[in-house]
Amino acid sequence: MELTEEQQRVVVVRDEQPQKGREAQMHNIRAAKAVADTVRSTLGPAGMDKMMVDGHGNVIVTNDGATILRELDVAHPGAKMVIDMAKTQESVCYDGTTSTVVLGGQLLGNSEQLFQKGLHPNVVCRGFHQASRWAVEHAQSLPTGSVSLNDVARTAMTGKTVEHAIDKAADLCVSAVTDAQGDPKKVRVVCQPGGSMEESHLFPGIILQKEFVFPSTGVKNACLLVNTGFEPEKGQPGPGIQFSSAKEAKQFYTDQTRNVLLDSAKTVIEAMPDGGVLFARDGVHELIAKHLSDAGIDVVRRVMESDMIALSNMLAMPIAHEPSDIPASVATGIGEFKISIREDTIGDMKFVVVEGSPEHVSTLVLRGATRATLDEYERAFEDAIGVTSLAFKDGKVVSGGGSAYISMAHHLRTRAADMGGREQMAVEAFAEALEIIPATIAENAGHDPLDTILALRNDHANGQIESGPDVENGGTCSMADKSVFEPLSVVTQSVQSATEVAISILRIDDIISKRAA
Ligand code: ADP
Ligand code: MG
Repeated sequence: MELTEEQQRVVVVRDEQPQKGREAQMHNIRAAKAVADTVRSTLGPAGMDKMMVDGHGNVIVTNDGATILRELDVAHPGAKMVIDMAKTQESVCYDGTTSTVVLGGQLLGNSEQLFQKGLHPNVVCRGFHQASRWAVEHAQSLPTGSVSLNDVARTAMTGKTVEHAIDKAADLCVSAVTDAQGDPKKVRVVCQPGGSMEESHLFPGIILQKEFVFPSTGVKNACLLVNTGFEPEKGQPGPGIQFSSAKEAKQFYTDQTRNVLLDSAKTVIEAMPDGGVLFARDGVHELIAKHLSDAGIDVVRRVMESDMIALSNMLAMPIAHEPSDIPASVATGIGEFKISIREDTIGDMKFVVVEGSPEHVSTLVLRGATRATLDEYERAFEDAIGVTSLAFKDGKVVSGGGSAYISMAHHLRTRAADMGGREQMAVEAFAEALEIIPATIAENAGHDPLDTILALRNDHANGQIESGPDVENGGTCSMADKSVFEPLSVVTQSVQSATEVAISILRIDDIISKRAA
């Protein structure tokens, strides 16, 4: 039976039989290429979306390479290496995952041809290594003019679902990053279904998607962070305790737990005599919550760990690990900043809002029609906030659209020419692989990739180092004129990661079954 291309891809990705030598290499290469082919069509401003469906019918529609790769169901070890590399790119640079995977796939594809011409894998690896170093050096020498954070944010969000409101989205992103002084950890994102992107806003403080256990008694100026809960422990009776009836046992537990819990509540009340808010990582029994509420203390229970850490950082306040760690008193502000905690509603949902810190932690409140669009907005913002922060911090950006890749390819060809030897072939193959980025951006926009590459080579040979694919009209244009810029480190990291994964895959000549761990 003839398999369709898609079926072959699935077969390759799922294949995990032991293999030797050339066969092992080819299998790994094919698996890595299959992963690259999966995300290829999402690259660039005209990239398409993927709909991912699991066995339970859960659906994700996304254009984000990192998300697709994270959700991909693969078993082949070679494919897994590529996915791991993509994760590194995502965690270091926040963006550029698709480019990295596509480049890695192309490097492996080109190496296949070198093997057919009789090159040894070691020669290919040495050539790729050298080429990667030269390429990165060249990228670092590209002119980096004055940085417009707005351009960087817009470039990162072009082609995503947020694009229809890109002015608003880029402004929000730049304000958030500027407030946070380029620390993406200080920008939090919450999504609120309903309304439209235009109604999204930046809030100076933390917004928790939580409600108080009992309605609040007003704005509070103190709080306690506790990394545990206030709930009765389920357990065995202590040694030597015997009950004559079930009723007696029940009474005993009720009294005992009640006393223990009320004791811990007492420490909370003593720490905040004028009222405040208790943020607990775990559950808080209704009885205790009521008791605290009567003393003017509002309770937020089951706070997520990341929220807890954010609160702790923002308010410069330690997290108590158990009730006995609770300090005797808590601060109500930092310097001239007074802590203020209240309940607020956005749309018809209740939130707990925390303000008052010299630490510029802010929350982006994203509004959108459905949960699915909001999830996609959130992913686009995460990438954009990440790269805008990189640009804010190191201030080095290069023109985008793959123009830097063409420029690196041009540079490598001139250096390869006076190299000689078989490694020269590997360097040339590397240069050709770099061109896959602008070629794919053009192809996804419906233009001929080969014509575009030939025109780009010509432009770059004539010193137009910012020339890239014109996605609207076809052909080439200056990416700087179109305000398409991206951080230099996204490009260099992408080249380095792709090279590394290609080399590690090429160096494998056996796939052997091992004992399960
Ligand atoms: P990645 O996961 O690699 O970031 P994207 O789908 O986000 O993949 O595409 C990013 C690429 O699209 C970058 O090379 C970027 O420079 C390019 N790009 C963004 N906007 C434009 C544009 N208007 N014209 C051409 N290329 C663009
Ligand atoms: Mg991107």
